[in-house]
Amino acid sequence: MSNRTITGVQLVTPDEEIRSVSIAIDDAGNIFGVSDEHPGGDTIVDGGNRLYALPGFIDIHTHGANGKDLANVTDDAVHTIAEAKLKEGVTTFLPTTWTSSAELLEQMARAAAAYRKDQPFARTPALHIEGPYLNTDQAGAQNPDLMRLPDIAEIEKIHQICPVAIVSLAVELEGGTEFVSAMSKMGIITSAAHSAATMEDFRKARRAGLSHMTHFCNQMSKLHHRDIGLVGAGLLDTDVKLEMICDKIHLCADMIELVFKLHPLDKIMLITDSIGASHLADGEYPQGDGIIIVKDGAARLPKGNLAGSTLQYQLGLKNVAEITGLPLNQVVSATSANQAQSLGLHDRGRIEPGMLGDVVLLNEDFEVEMTIVGGEVKYRR
Ligand code: FE
Repeated sequence: MSNRTITGVQLVTPDEEIRSVSIAIDDAGNIFGVSDEHPGGDTIVDGGNRLYALPGFIDIHTHGANGKDLANVTDDAVHTIAEAKLKEGVTTFLPTTWTSSAELLEQMARAAAAYRKDQPFARTPALHIEGPYLNTDQAGAQNPDLMRLPDIAEIEKIHQICPVAIVSLAVELEGGTEFVSAMSKMGIITSAAHSAATMEDFRKARRAGLSHMTHFCNQMSKLHHRDIGLVGAGLLDTDVKLEMICDKIHLCADMIELVFKLHPLDKIMLITDSIGASHLADGEYPQGDGIIIVKDGAARLPKGNLAGSTLQYQLGLKNVAEITGLPLNQVVSATSANQAQSLGLHDRGRIEPGMLGDVVLLNEDFEVEMTIVGGEVKYRR
């Protein structure tokens, strides 16, 4: 295959001026040129100076999409999710588990590992383990009966089956601090989640290597003036990286504005936390042993708890841009560069020579027009 060129697009990459460019991608699928002149080679798309080109989105927290969840533990479940994610402009994602038995966790790792062999749609460098090491008092939609104490050996075993990038856990559980430091030694990120931690618990975990907070504000100790809890901790500690579900359901517009005002932009990571009901219409869908009811796009258990989201990635970015008024070439960091940096994926997150040819083209309404992975058009609206 010869060189391929994306031409006539408005470049939106962190901290660079938004301008009309051509992006040249070599036959190995890597970007080798970004310039205002067409470099030659086949034009795969001409954006007519109307479309915006952003680095492919990186969703580090997604359980499912288009009728399938990772917990379905079939190879085609991961394929279905990976294909649906392309429609959101996501070119890299971490399939995310939820609280389940040791056997089911292992099966989920095997399903993700099977997809990783060829990765025909979005890329999946590793897993995100969210549960079972969670606090039953902050269970949310996860099954408290299967929650248990952090288990280093269990993660070592899963990591052999499929690389683990992130473990979300309640750091205050017995053995939590030891677990965080063991993960740090293994090069695995730990993220505070489904947790009733005090500020002191948080500080201990930070010293042991905790670096992320999972779906910031959701299912964590609230800000109180005598112990600022995890919500306060995330606002005070400007070095910790925050996942945010910017669907205006999990976080209201005021909270989104507040976090972007107080927290450094390079420490914020937009996620979807999407479930199998995303990409589907409102209705009732099976989930684990029970059902999930989706109404006006909000997914809830019958008793009312939010149960993941149906958010599509590009809409989270649209909401943030509208709410904060921040320029797109700044906000874009929270969709890819920050995640790439945190995961140590230094070949993606920016549109510049040497990076993977992973690009999403958006129109002025933030609709995904095209998703390109390694220089190949994988989705076209
Ligand atoms: Fe969660």
